[in-house]
Amino acid sequence: PPSPSRLFHKDNGRLVAHIVSHYESINRCEQELPEHFNFASDVLDKWSQLEKAGKRPAIAAFWWINDKGDEVKWSFEELGFLSRKAANVLSDPCGLQREDRVIVILPRIPEWWILNVACIRTGIVFIPGTSQLTAKDIFYRLQASKAKCIITNDTLAPAVDSVMPDCQFLKTKLIVSEGSRDGWLNFQELLKVAPADHNCIKTKSRDPMLIYFTSGSTGPPKMVEHSHSSYGIGFTVSGRYWLNLIPSDIFWNTSDTGWVKSAWSSFFSPWSSGSCVFIHNMPQFDPTTVANTLSRYPITTFCTAPTAYCMLVQHGVTSYKFMSLRHCVTGGEPLNPEVMEQWKTQTGLDIYEGYGQTETVTICANVKGMKIKPGSMGKASPPYDVQVVGDQGDILPRGEEGNIAIRIKPTRPFCLFSQYLDNPEKTASTEHGNFYITGDRGIMDEEGYFWFVGRSDDIINSSGYRIGPFEVESALIQHPAVAESAVASSPDPIRGEVVKAFVVLAPDFLSHDPEKLALELQEHVKKVTAPYKYPRKVEFVQELPKTVAGKIQRKVLRNKEWGRA
Ligand code: ATP
Ligand code: MG
Repeated sequence: PPSPSRLFHKDNGRLVAHIVSHYESINRCEQELPEHFNFASDVLDKWSQLEKAGKRPAIAAFWWINDKGDEVKWSFEELGFLSRKAANVLSDPCGLQREDRVIVILPRIPEWWILNVACIRTGIVFIPGTSQLTAKDIFYRLQASKAKCIITNDTLAPAVDSVMPDCQFLKTKLIVSEGSRDGWLNFQELLKVAPADHNCIKTKSRDPMLIYFTSGSTGPPKMVEHSHSSYGIGFTVSGRYWLNLIPSDIFWNTSDTGWVKSAWSSFFSPWSSGSCVFIHNMPQFDPTTVANTLSRYPITTFCTAPTAYCMLVQHGVTSYKFMSLRHCVTGGEPLNPEVMEQWKTQTGLDIYEGYGQTETVTICANVKGMKIKPGSMGKASPPYDVQVVGDQGDILPRGEEGNIAIRIKPTRPFCLFSQYLDNPEKTASTEHGNFYITGDRGIMDEEGYFWFVGRSDDIINSSGYRIGPFEVESALIQHPAVAESAVASSPDPIRGEVVKAFVVLAPDFLSHDPEKLALELQEHVKKVTAPYKYPRKVEFVQELPKTVAGKIQRKVLRNKEWGRA
């Protein structure tokens, strides 16, 4: 845990601690979940009051920049003011009511945050999507969710219009744009004239607040429904311990607004802690831009994907001075110990890995003050009771590989998704015995640390040996020739299936003899890990298949190997 002095510093500590501690005690099951909860009125507006009373450090609640030199800074009070106006836009000209659904596809622009809070204020269910979606993806999402309204910008409005004739549920289109567009209401114009008074809806803790489509790493994206309390209260513990945040912190998380990590780390966790959400709207992830931003702004806490850390250390950040940076975190994919070590060498900082799913809040995390075991996802995060279980939901002994699972009986944690929308069979299929089965395989060691082995579908069974791709990939990346790799199952007449590595080469090795290099990589893996895991097949590729969230799709590689569609 963070030192008490960091949380309770100054005379305002007691008040600051009040918001955090109250919700933390609910996570620790010391207090009951309240019947009503609304993140806007119960958390954001509380911080606004403290800020007004001079009891929060004088830093922004939201700080946004882009590559053109534009900057936006809001206090909690300004965020409240704008989001109340936006709530009136949604209710009145847009004609939306409590529990109506709205799809919001916007890049990292400030309006995304205003609209998100506005939806919470009005009880409207927010469904984020990434700007990389195509017309077909948008159509799928509109139909599946029966959304009444879509909010997007000039870039994606034509795609929406192209599928509009077939969307029987969609009633209103709202555009975030300087100009006007036929058939669309204009958000900026409406916001200017909207009244500033708005009474926040008194939502029940269990009412729906948010629907996320999963990343689609393993199949078509699923609609994951969360209640107001789930993400609203369930991130208090992560905010305080995993992210180690207090109100004076400035937290930059780089993920796209369409991915769940944005809700986790650019919204609920930092604002639960009263910290500043920092955003740099970059057209794409560029290591130089990221390193410059970390040098120029007083960012104290940083979160990015494991692949992004990989790009940063390959670019090299030794020559930069990250003046204020003191805590780095990651999640969403396994972090190779090699990358962690290099980051530490280059910056002097550890990377605290966390693990979770769209369906959950943080399941496991490394928290400040805890011994980090490189390659491990850390320990269970309250309120979850996390276990490794067999296929019938039986708890396995420590050290044995099995399904990573969360106890749901006798009580389903309030911060677990409510359901896969319109898919009770799929929801039921995740429950075995007393547990919710994550679909990930792992090991819990004697000290309660969790080790990720792989997604259940990605595990390779070669002549009876079960091999997780992560360990092989972690071994491969230690070799200087490997920029990135993915490991998947490939058919073999004798062994049934074998380990195949798809390798993206580092620039310096592109001209090397591929056959020799393949042999060298095989020998390397045999040396650094148990030899039976070495890739019997190696293929050099230009790039790896990834989801829009940037996650490696091993399933695509596997299907290609096995000649499946
Ligand atoms: P879909 O469910 O549609 O296939 P997805 O599972 O990739 O997509 P998310 O909910 O965004 O969608 O991702 C959660 C998954 O990401 C976890 O189940 C796990 O497989 C992986 N993951 C998240 N954090 C970590 C981590 N620290 N280490 C290893 N894997 C992680
Ligand atoms: Mg998943």
